[in-house]
Amino acid sequence: MNQHRTQTTTFDIALLPGDGIGVDVTREAVKVLQALTPKLDGVKFAFHEYSVGAGEYLKHGNPLPDEAFEACRKADAVLLGAMGLPNVRWPDGKEMTPQIDLREKLQLYCGLRPIRLYHEHDTPLKRYKVGEIDLVIVRESTEGLFSGRQSQASPDKDEVCDVMRITRAGSERVCRSAFRVAQKRRNQVTLVDKANVLPSMVYFRSIFDAVAKEFPDVHSGHVYVDAAALYLVQRPHTFDVLVTENMFGDILSDLAAGLIGGMGMAPSADIGDGCAVFQPSHGTAPDIAGKGIANPIATILSAALMLEWLKHPATVKGAELIRRAVETVLEDPAQRTPDLGGRLTTTEMAKKIIARL
Ligand code: ATP
Repeated sequence: MNQHRTQTTTFDIALLPGDGIGVDVTREAVKVLQALTPKLDGVKFAFHEYSVGAGEYLKHGNPLPDEAFEACRKADAVLLGAMGLPNVRWPDGKEMTPQIDLREKLQLYCGLRPIRLYHEHDTPLKRYKVGEIDLVIVRESTEGLFSGRQSQASPDKDEVCDVMRITRAGSERVCRSAFRVAQKRRNQVTLVDKANVLPSMVYFRSIFDAVAKEFPDVHSGHVYVDAAALYLVQRPHTFDVLVTENMFGDILSDLAAGLIGGMGMAPSADIGDGCAVFQPSHGTAPDIAGKGIANPIATILSAALMLEWLKHPATVKGAELIRRAVETVLEDPAQRTPDLGGRLTTTEMAKKIIARL
C-alpha cells in the first residue's frame, strides 16, 4: 500500500485471471473496480497481472510460477479468476489445483463463502424473497480431508486411504474467524461436522465448543453434515454462519450456491492473517469457456469482498455500492446471463452493473 502526499492510497492488487472463464470474469471485475475508482475518495488500485494455471503449465511447466506467488504474498490483495482444466493433468493423473497450493502456502485458512439471494426469480426454492437467504459458509481451507491430496494412489495397491487432518491450531483459528464473522451479522454460528462417526470430528467439535465460550454473545450449535445438506435446502433462512472442515465446506458451498442461482452468483474469499485471495466459488467451467456467456457476478461480488477486507473507509463504501448495483440490475428479470435464464453476455452484464454504480 502506497500513500502519496495528497493522501491518495494506492492498493497493489495481484491479478491472476487463470484459465477458462476465469479470464473473462476477472476482466469484467477489473472494469467494475476501475469504474468505481472515481467514487472512492482518495483510493486507487494498481493491478499487476500474472499468468498462472493450466495454460501457464503448458507454456512453462509450472502452474504457479515463483514470481506470481511472491507477488501474491506481497500484494495488498489478490484477485483470482479460476485455475485448472480437465485435460491438463500432472503425470499421476490429478488435475492441477494451484489455487489450493496458494491457500496452503499463504495459510489462507478462512474460506469465506457468502450466500445471499439477490432476486426471488433466481432460487429454485419457493417462497424466498430477496435477502431471505443470507448465510455465510466458513470453510477451513488448509487441512481437513484435503490434507492427503499430495499422496500417491498407485493402481497396483490393494488399498488407499485419505487422511482427515484436524489440528488444534487450525481449528481454533477458523472457529474464531467464524465467530467474528457472526458478530458482524446475526450472532449465530453452526458447526457442521460428523462427530457421530469420525474421531477427527469429535475433536473438531470439542475445539469449537471451547472457542464458543470466548464469544458468549454469539449463539452456537452443531449439525451433522448430512443433515446440514437437508436443512440448507429445507430452511436456509435459519442459518447465519456455518463453519466446517475443508471437504464438507467444498461440497456444501456448491449446494448453497444452487439455492441462489448457481455458481455464477457465489463469491468467495480465502483469508489468512496477512494475505487474502478473492475469487468466485466456481471453477473454470470448461463447458462454457470461450463463449463469452459466463456470469461475472460471482467475481464482481468477490471484488466487493476484497474492498471490504481492505478496510479503507472508501473501499468499504465501494463494496456496498457494488452490491447495491448488482441488486438493482437483477430487479429486472430480463437482465440475466444464460445460467440464470437470460441472454446477456459476460461483458453486457458487467456494463449493466457499471451503469448502476
Ligand atoms: P472446481 O472443481 O474447479 O470448483 P467444478 O468442477 O466444480 O470446478 P465449475 O467450473 O465451478 O465446476 O462449473 C460447474 C457448473 O457451473 C458448470 O456447469 C459451469 O458451466 C457452471 N458455472 C460455473 N461458473 C459459472 C459462471 N460464472 N457462469 C455461468 N455458469 C457457471
